[in-house]
Amino acid sequence: KSRMESNHEVIIEVRNLSHMYPGGVLALEDVNLNVHKGEFLAILGQNGSGKTTLVKHFNGLLYPTSGSVRVNGEETRKLGIRTLGQHIGYVFQNPDHQIFSDKVYDEVAFGLRLRHTPESEIKQRVADALRAVDLEGYEDADPFSLTKGERQRVAVASVLAGNPEVLILDEPTTGLDYSQQRSMMELVKRLNESGSTIIVVTHSMWLVAEYADRVVVMKDGRVYLSGTVREVFSREEELRDAALKPPQIVSMSNLLGYTVRSVEELVHVTKENR
Ligand code: ADP
Repeated sequence: KSRMESNHEVIIEVRNLSHMYPGGVLALEDVNLNVHKGEFLAILGQNGSGKTTLVKHFNGLLYPTSGSVRVNGEETRKLGIRTLGQHIGYVFQNPDHQIFSDKVYDEVAFGLRLRHTPESEIKQRVADALRAVDLEGYEDADPFSLTKGERQRVAVASVLAGNPEVLILDEPTTGLDYSQQRSMMELVKRLNESGSTIIVVTHSMWLVAEYADRVVVMKDGRVYLSGTVREVFSREEELRDAALKPPQIVSMSNLLGYTVRSVEELVHVTKENR
């Protein structure tokens, strides 16, 4: 994809990162990876493989036990959570854990008010953020009167209002029905196309297949596989080792000797090879 090839600027650099929780659980072990400006990265892995622990290092919710994490060249520990929060937006797995207000407007304005942003600028930024998530006109609604999919979008808007360079979404489709999942991912895709760097933590293979540029597979606290979606999906045996199963269409195409990401692509490839 030209978007990626034309821009290899590294925003997040992880070097030899290990993390041990109090009590002695080694949740990450010698992790290395770069996140590039403008890319759509998926972090894949079964429960307990270390995905959430990894991304919490990107915005200062956790710091390395050993090794380093740099954002725009600076160690996260030195930047601190407040500064990191302005670069790296984090949407929690459960939106209800980050919604505090009884009005959508106040919820989206919350972080900006903490930073003493002038009210006129807040107004503009809230309007822009609500437009980005298709919730214009919901300013006065109570977030808890909305559907889960809408609350998830309120949570995304709250993070977007801070204008972060990188948006991390932790399991953004959990608890949503299929059409809500779709509209959530279409929203994330639009944000990516308009310049946001996206990191999605997930165990959903179809989501990765359809939306990501690049994927990192975690297993037992280590990076087990990484590469383009096509590269990683062609390694079915290793994926199975990491307790992951590619979508059926991908497995089928692997048998045919091409790795495709969708039915449309399979039709296209088989026509070309006829
Ligand atoms: P994932 O996001 O892939 O499900 P996590 O990063 O949540 O994985 O967890 C990785 C490992 O760290 C697991 O063994 C988990 O039990 C452990 N862990 C996660 N959070 C804590 C914590 N606060 N204290 C102790 N151990 C934890």
